[in-house]
Amino acid sequence: MAFESLTDKLQNVFKNLRKKGRLTEADVKAALKEVKMALLEADVSFKVVKQFMKSVQERAVGADVMSGLNPGQMVIKIVNEELVNLMGSETAELLLKPGSEITVIMMVGLQGAGKTTTTAKLAGKLKSKGRKPLLAACDVYRPAAITQLQVNGEKQGVEVFSMGDKQNPVNIAKAAYEHAKKEKFNVLILDTAGRLHIDEDMMKELADIKEALEVDQTVLVVDAMTGQDAVNVAETFGEKVGIDGVVLTKLDGDARGGAALSIRAITGKPILFVGMGEKLSDLEQFYPDRMASRILG
Ligand code: GDP
Repeated sequence: MAFESLTDKLQNVFKNLRKKGRLTEADVKAALKEVKMALLEADVSFKVVKQFMKSVQERAVGADVMSGLNPGQMVIKIVNEELVNLMGSETAELLLKPGSEITVIMMVGLQGAGKTTTTAKLAGKLKSKGRKPLLAACDVYRPAAITQLQVNGEKQGVEVFSMGDKQNPVNIAKAAYEHAKKEKFNVLILDTAGRLHIDEDMMKELADIKEALEVDQTVLVVDAMTGQDAVNVAETFGEKVGIDGVVLTKLDGDARGGAALSIRAITGKPILFVGMGEKLSDLEQFYPDRMASRILG
């Protein structure tokens, strides 16, 4: 499970603080230094750690004026609250249009991040909420992407619109939209092509789809295991294509967790969902406060 090592380290810091009873300023300083090291080792981006420590320190210095909590508890409370702030103090929702209006969601991301799997997971989630989603297979480059989407769509009981791999993705997206309109689907999710690395062709293709179709939500899928790379990818997609939110996959693995803590602060875009396994039911809404509690253990 992600964060294990970070959780262990933070718990250790806090255990030592609690043991001390009365704390000197030096004790708090030393503890905060250890918190900083733990975050850096968890692959949280340096810029984010610096800002985070500044906020915590500012609050911790004046903390002894507050009654009811001992200094150790106070530091823990502040770290907890600042972790929540870092990930976005409110739970972000995928914005859907009301009623029969079609919401177009474009899924983007690098190959292997989990985009196709997440697309099917998301369709299942929306279906269970009473929506009528249609999936469109716009990844015409990766061998087997279309079949994978069809197989997963079938498992979810969700229709998949495909035109094979000989058409260009813009035409597929447009035709899928017409199909959705005719058959009264109210969500269209486009599974677009990823690449191994960010390249101009991919960015242009995504921009072309956005030009041809009114995309309501662009959702970036990134792999938590790739740590700071995931954050860099999110930053670049944000700049070049524009994104509305992020799905962080493979948080069930042994990712150090830094991406979860950095993405919001670096890109300004919220994490919407987290992938917690390979099964199609393993997609969870992202709650910053629950994640902070989990990190603190
Ligand atoms: P794409 O190239 O981005 O479309 O990636 P895929 O959807 O094909 O996923 C790549 C691999 O990651 C597959 O083996 C998926 O089963 C796996 N995967 C996707 N999401 C998760 C997740 O949340 N947890 C785990 N453990 N594996 C995942």
